[in-house]
Amino acid sequence: MPENEKRYLELAEEVLKYFECKGCGWCCKNLGVGIEKGDIERLPVEPKNTRVILTEDNVIEYIKPPCEYLDENNSCSIYDHRLKECRFFPFTIRGMRLNLCPLGKEISDLYEMVADEKFFPNPERLEKFLKHLRSGDLKNVYFFKISKQSKR
Ligand code: SF4
Ligand code: SF4
Repeated sequence: MPENEKRYLELAEEVLKYFECKGCGWCCKNLGVGIEKGDIERLPVEPKNTRVILTEDNVIEYIKPPCEYLDENNSCSIYDHRLKECRFFPFTIRGMRLNLCPLGKEISDLYEMVADEKFFPNPERLEKFLKHLRSGDLKNVYFFKISKQSKR
């Protein structure tokens, strides 16, 4: 993985620690999840419902939505082994799914309020955001709360 991509994902992971997934299950029901190197080895049960697509410079295999690991309570039945893409959602390598994910919307709304600019997730903007989050100076923002991610 290129160094800048690795950095981006490390920063995204840290940002996500300050927010809570709303557990709506929209992502798991509606989006295909790309299978990355190392994912299959980690999964307790191999996925059955996959598809391969060719892009300009890549071959991507993904789990077709709705994800077969989502249970009837909108929880991920393989949470501790879930795919890499799931760990960073709504941040993705190919952009960010903001508007339809309540968590993504919360993150971008807060960023836009404190930074007074549009939120395009990249390492520079995530660094800037993290300075605020780490310092705790956003504690008085009404919807902001430090929390652990819930299961989905
Ligand atoms: S990541 Fe977003 S879309 Fe997925 S369950 Fe959480 S809030 Fe819903
Ligand atoms: S979090 Fe679990 S249920 Fe949701 S897409 Fe990922 S593997 Fe599937």
